[in-house]
Amino acid sequence: MVIVMDHNATEEQIETVVQRLEDAGYRAHLSRGVERTIIGAIGDETQLGDAGIELLPGVANVIPIMQPYKLASRVMREEGTVITIGDVEIGGDTVQVMAGPCAVESKEQLFEVAEKIKENGARILRGGAYKPRTSPYSFQGLAEKGLQLLAETREKYGLLIVTEVMDPRTLPLVAEYADIIQIGTRNMQNFYLLREVGRYNKPVLLKRGLAATMEEWLMAAEYILSEGNPNVILCERGIRTFETYTRNTLDLSAVPIIKHFSHLPVIVDPSHGIGKFRFVPPMAVAAVAAGADGVMLEVHPNPLEALCDGAQSLTPKKFAKTMKQMAAVAQAVGRKF
Ligand code: PEP
Ligand code: MN
Repeated sequence: MVIVMDHNATEEQIETVVQRLEDAGYRAHLSRGVERTIIGAIGDETQLGDAGIELLPGVANVIPIMQPYKLASRVMREEGTVITIGDVEIGGDTVQVMAGPCAVESKEQLFEVAEKIKENGARILRGGAYKPRTSPYSFQGLAEKGLQLLAETREKYGLLIVTEVMDPRTLPLVAEYADIIQIGTRNMQNFYLLREVGRYNKPVLLKRGLAATMEEWLMAAEYILSEGNPNVILCERGIRTFETYTRNTLDLSAVPIIKHFSHLPVIVDPSHGIGKFRFVPPMAVAAVAAGADGVMLEVHPNPLEALCDGAQSLTPKKFAKTMKQMAAVAQAVGRKF
C-alpha cells in the first residue's frame, strides 16, 4: 500500500507512520515530493494487514497497490522518474539516444563511432566489454581492456557510457567505469545480480528478458529498487515469438503500457529487437512515436567486419539519417531531441 500524507503533515507524524509500518513487519520507503510525502509500505499486505495506518494523524489517504510490484508502480510516483547523469536527463522531455557497437573491439573502432554519433547528436555511447554470446567459441569481449577503452573514449568525446555487466564478480569493476550499468536480456531474472546492482549508486538499464512478460520485467526492476537504487531504466529489446523473419519481435506495445503502470523511463532497442539493419530505422522512428524516452542503436564503422551483431548494425551514415527521422517524429509528438 501507499500512504499519502497530508500537505502539512509534520516530521513527527511521518516518523510515527514509518515506525508503525516497521513494527508491523513492513519496510517503509519515503518519497518526498514538492507537494507532499508519500510512504510506500513494502511487504506482503495479505500477511501483514493494514497496521491501522489510516487512523494515524497526518495521513490523508491509504491506497492499496494491486500489482505485485510496489516501488516500480506509478502509484508511488505519479510524475514519472527523471534520471539525471551530468547534464543528460533520461525520462524527461528529451528523447535520448544511446549508440555504438555491440562489442568494444579496438580504440580505432570506438573513436570512430564516438565521433560520428556525437556529431549527430547522441549523448550516450554503448559498447559491450563482457558479451553474452550463445556460443562459447564466439568473441567474448575485451573485458577490462574494453572498459578502459570506453573510459578513454568518454574522456576524448565527452559522452556517457553504458555497458553490460554479466556477473556479480565483475560488477565492482564495471561500476567503476560505467555511467549506466546494463543488465542484458539473459540476466533479467538473475535475481542475485539484480540485488547486487540495487546496492550500487549507478543508474541501471534493465533489458526485458527474451521471454518475459511485462509484469515479470517490472518485478525484476522491483528487485533493484527494493535494494535502494531508484535509478532504473527499462529497455524493450524484442521477445521470442514464432516469427522467423526477424531475430525477435519488437514489442512496442510495451512502451505505452509500461509507462501507464510504472513511473520508470522506458527506452527501446530496435537493433536487437528486429536483428536486421534495414528494418532498424523504421522501428527506431516508431519507438519515438510510441513515447519511448530513448532509443538504443547498434552502430559500427564497418558492419561487415563486426565481431558481433554486424547484421543489425547501422553504418554511421545510416545512423545519421535515422537521427534526422527520429528528430522529426520527436517534434511531432511533443518531445525534444
Ligand atoms: C547488447 O545490448 O549488446 C545485448 C547483448 O543485448 P541483449 O541483452 O538485449 O541481447
Ligand atoms: Mn548486440
